[in-house]
Amino acid sequence: MIDISTPASRNYFTDEELQCRCTFCARSREQGEREAGSASNMKADFLAHLNRVRERVYCRPMPVSSGYRCQHHPEESFNRRRVEQAGKTWTPGDHPCGVGVDIRIHGSAAHVLMRSLHVYNWFHLQKNQPQPFTAICPHQRGLTQDRFIHIGGNNLAPGRPRPWLWTY
Ligand SMILES: [Zn+2]
Repeated sequence: MIDISTPASRNYFTDEELQCRCTFCARSREQGEREAGSASNMKADFLAHLNRVRERVYCRPMPVSSGYRCQHHPEESFNRRRVEQAGKTWTPGDHPCGVGVDIRIHGSAAHVLMRSLHVYNWFHLQKNQPQPFTAICPHQRGLTQDRFIHIGGNNLAPGRPRPWLWTY
């Protein structure tokens, strides 16, 4: 068993990698709006879990390719349009809720990271606590530098089953 309650000894994720990377936010930041799509939109509990799994289970770098996403982010607005055009209600996903990151990773490191996240969840289940990671979803096709594992911490909601597994 590992310590799943005290904070990690440090923060392993930078504001720069967690902030929204859409062109709208990037431009706003350039123009001096420092809070545009800020990493402070990430939920503290979710980051605490990520830092613990990074420090105590996986114990290797976890480079974030996408963290917080605002409503202007192309992936989010595209998903929303697609769902609404199908006549369904759109429920925000992990990134816009501040409980989602994509970790750029592939191959054996991806295998170990998937295991680490599930082991971390399992520690919580052993203590009758809800599992922190309700989505652990691999995108492992195409160029290796574009591959990632999505980690999400949202709760069950209409149009958003959890826990859930999807692939890309
Ligand atoms: Zn944005």
